[in-house]
Amino acid sequence: MKFKFCPLCGKKLEIRDSWDEGGVPYCSSDDMMFFDTPKPCAVIAVVKDDEILLLKQSYIFKNSKVLVSGYVGTNETVEDTVYREVKEETGIEIEEIKYLGSDFVKDKDLLMLTYMAKYKSGEINKSSEVEWIDWSKIEDALCEMSEDEVGKKVVKKVLKEIGYKGTKAFTCEISR
Ligand SMILES: [Zn+2]
Repeated sequence: MKFKFCPLCGKKLEIRDSWDEGGVPYCSSDDMMFFDTPKPCAVIAVVKDDEILLLKQSYIFKNSKVLVSGYVGTNETVEDTVYREVKEETGIEIEEIKYLGSDFVKDKDLLMLTYMAKYKSGEINKSSEVEWIDWSKIEDALCEMSEDEVGKKVVKKVLKEIGYKGTKAFTCEISR
């Protein structure tokens, strides 16, 4: 998102040259630059043996399952978000989180920070935000996540991480 008005005082921002960033919206009253602000969001693939935790939230995708995800809060590290979102949405405790890289969703201005995590303990306790949640075979995940392009990229990285050698997981990818 590009700021046009100062989020603090409402004044129209001018463009000022920042030595390494080029033109940046600037408020002379607050003497502050307002850089573009993509929203950081964590995406987490929770893995338990040969299964992965998938959920359905039809406000995101109507006919597709997705991974656990959530916005990074204020005063929170992305790692905090990863543990918090999994606990809040699923009731499960995780461990050994591993960063798998980032992705950008242009039309939503989202910076997706993707992680893989190992199931530690707890039973699934669905939050009201979630319509459906369960363990799926990792092999079936790509087929079940048809609309979730970012999620599918994460699953492919997970397959690599766990040393998956089969072909079944990619059956739904071949036709594309
Ligand atoms: Zn201002």
